[in-house]
Amino acid sequence: MTMTIADNLQEIIKEIPSGIRVVAVSKSHTPETIREAYDAGQRIFGENRVQELMIKQKLLPNDIEWHFIGHLQRNKVEQIIQKSEMIHSIDSLRLLKEVNKEAFRKNITVDCLLQFHIASEETKFGFLLDDILTIISSEELWELSSVNICGVMGMATLTDDMEKVRREFRNLRRVFELLKSEYFRNNPRFSEVSMGMSGDYRIAIEEGSTMLRLGARIFS
Ligand SMILES: *Cc1c(COP(=O)(O)O)cnc(C)c1O
Repeated sequence: MTMTIADNLQEIIKEIPSGIRVVAVSKSHTPETIREAYDAGQRIFGENRVQELMIKQKLLPNDIEWHFIGHLQRNKVEQIIQKSEMIHSIDSLRLLKEVNKEAFRKNITVDCLLQFHIASEETKFGFLLDDILTIISSEELWELSSVNICGVMGMATLTDDMEKVRREFRNLRRVFELLKSEYFRNNPRFSEVSMGMSGDYRIAIEEGSTMLRLGARIFS
């Protein structure tokens, strides 16, 4: 039996505890394909390129919540901030400041996640765990009034070693707890841990994910 996108979504919903949200990662998929997921009830979609997100957004229903999950260049910030509900991939203070600046100019606030580099691969973007102290002792950060820091995001190493993946997710969850208890105690908005992709989302759930980013699991 071949599985449709609707079948996949139904299976996933049965598998995951309520309260965990699914971002359907639709990069490289056509609007028609995305529409299939939409018709099956999916409302949150993730894209990793600014241009692609904007084009698809124009072609699809406007109750879709678009999340930006890819590396964001500072010169694209102005274009994306009003189009995406949440930016998962804030990987430097410079980028965060740029988002804040453009958001302030547009008189909006932008929901953001701090992306941490938890994998052992060198190519992935993000803050290092060692950066946390720098981040939280940065007075500048606390003065950014046009961004809402809603939590953290990370990608585990692409490997069959599931214990390694588990340790990486556990580290990210710890980073979240540390930031929460030390710096966002009085901020209920700081509540998201975006981790888990098609190959590792079950482990991510066990380690405290609140948002899964699933591409292949839904679209193939
Ligand atoms: C592509 C991508 C995903 C989804 O990956 P799958 O393995 O297809 O589920 C999740 N997060 C990010 C940042 C991605 O670029």
